[in-house]
Amino acid sequence: MEENTSRNFLEEIIEQGLAEGTYKSILTRFPPEPNGYLHIGHCKSICLNFGLAKKYGGKTNLRFDDTNPVKEDTEYVDSIQQDIRWLGFEWASVHYASDYFDQLYEWAVVLIKKGLAYVDDQTQEEIRLGRGTVTEPGKNSPYRDRSVEENLDLFERMKNGEFADGEKVLRAKIDMAHPNMQFRDPIMYRILHADHHRTGSKWCIYPMYDYAHGQSDSIENITHSICTLEFDIHRPLYDWFIEQLGIWPSHQYEFARLNINYTVMSKRKLLQLVKENYVSGWDDPRMPTICGFRRRGYTPESLRNFCEDIGVAKRDNIIDYVRLENSLRDHLNKVAQRRMAVLNPVKLVIDNYPEGQEEMLTAVNNPECEADGTRQVPFSRELYIEREDFMEEAPKKFFRLSIGKEVRLRYAYFVTAQSVEKDAEGNITCIHCTYDPATRGGDAPDGRKVKGTLHWVSAKHAVDAEVRLFDRLFATEAPDVAPEGKTFLDNLNPDSLKVLHNCKLEPALAEAKMVVNEKGIEEPQRFQFERMGYFCTDRDMNDGHLVFNRSCSLKDTWAKING
Ligand code: ATP
Ligand code: MG
Repeated sequence: MEENTSRNFLEEIIEQGLAEGTYKSILTRFPPEPNGYLHIGHCKSICLNFGLAKKYGGKTNLRFDDTNPVKEDTEYVDSIQQDIRWLGFEWASVHYASDYFDQLYEWAVVLIKKGLAYVDDQTQEEIRLGRGTVTEPGKNSPYRDRSVEENLDLFERMKNGEFADGEKVLRAKIDMAHPNMQFRDPIMYRILHADHHRTGSKWCIYPMYDYAHGQSDSIENITHSICTLEFDIHRPLYDWFIEQLGIWPSHQYEFARLNINYTVMSKRKLLQLVKENYVSGWDDPRMPTICGFRRRGYTPESLRNFCEDIGVAKRDNIIDYVRLENSLRDHLNKVAQRRMAVLNPVKLVIDNYPEGQEEMLTAVNNPECEADGTRQVPFSRELYIEREDFMEEAPKKFFRLSIGKEVRLRYAYFVTAQSVEKDAEGNITCIHCTYDPATRGGDAPDGRKVKGTLHWVSAKHAVDAEVRLFDRLFATEAPDVAPEGKTFLDNLNPDSLKVLHNCKLEPALAEAKMVVNEKGIEEPQRFQFERMGYFCTDRDMNDGHLVFNRSCSLKDTWAKING
């Protein structure tokens, strides 16, 4: 109940501004750098920016913060747009920081003319040393007092390509003793002879993030520029630029970034996992990327609900991965069609079932949704059941099948195991049992009960499939933390992928496929394999070869193992 009425601090700020008439409607933006695929942390930011605008009747821009040509690529631009749309959000318009390069250049000239920026010839190292420390003031650059004319001339020549990379920079002239290090003559422009994914070879000087970000917000009239906490010390600098230039005042608000245990979220590290083949790609189902979650079988609703659920914090915290899985379980429980699939099959023969007989039994598609109806599942004398569902000599608490014990085959009959066949090594190759024809549908007319219900597939009708079982990509809770001489790669879980090649599925699953949703985005079909978990189709499947990914188990098995 509380969740519906209580507001987070951003909502309070927005409501206050609307009430006081500071703005008539709000405009937020999501500003990814197109240097990688979006991850679950970005998802949080997307849900927040788009969610707030939606809630208060405002709009959201998508802005690519593309000020660093070396790492950026149109592949990333495309994937980012697809992921945002798949999550269920639409932007008002798309912008690129690079669209503002001309404007930013003109503003830099304005600042030079006001005596608030200068060209510095020091090396990167000299500049770094000159900045001082938190406890010691910095030193003025020997180039700090160049005349406005000289600065204008040098800056133009920087732009014209007369200097090599790193030879000069443009710096704001503020205060080398300022208590906020960001104000110690921050760099505004650097020389970089590199082609940009949009502006090509037009520029060889590029604005620094800190010089571009606030002004980009201002150009777009962003009312609430929402970003993560680490940028709070940059805010006064953004405000300084805006004030000196006398341009539209955009405001920045910071919230705590999303951290989740057992995963890494820096794009640099994710890129390394991809480049060095620790995973199969950005959309590997173990990756914390949005496309990875999509391939894993996550629904947009489950990701949005997760982000809503964890709320907006002003202090850093770490969210348990289990909450993400629970969010998926909650949603799939409501929407996933139930099917029967045997992942580790063993043959079960019903000796007293007439040879050659086949019948169709009625199975419920989704007990949570009556409208999903029922389907017919073929039954015959020879079936497959899970190897783990049988024990020759079972302990007392084993409620599945064992010699002399009766169990229910889901939607079918009661069966009692009688004997087993074994190969030379002693492995069970076949279980023989008898059935009670009076129990058709799964209940005994005499009211007798059984403790266990097993899923099964008819051997003759079964379809073969490959099933991929995933575990966490990292074995440790905080994979970013590695001992001396080790890296996050040493924390990878060696058993994060297990491939089963010989799975037997009920024939209805032969129709399973990848689907293209109403937005034209390919995504998997999702199912609950009864008793086994949630599974979805994988894009690796092709005609005649079914591939499924396990999205998550039915219950939180991890908690049990560690608990
Ligand atoms: P990374 O550190 O993974 O490279 P980034 O912050 O550099 O991420 P950007 O493309 O600059 O990536 O991020 C776009 C937006 O998403 C920014 O507003 C950023 O604050 C936000 N964002 C990134 N990571 C998270 C996170 N873990 N939680 C919440 N918001 C995030
Ligand atoms: Mg960034």
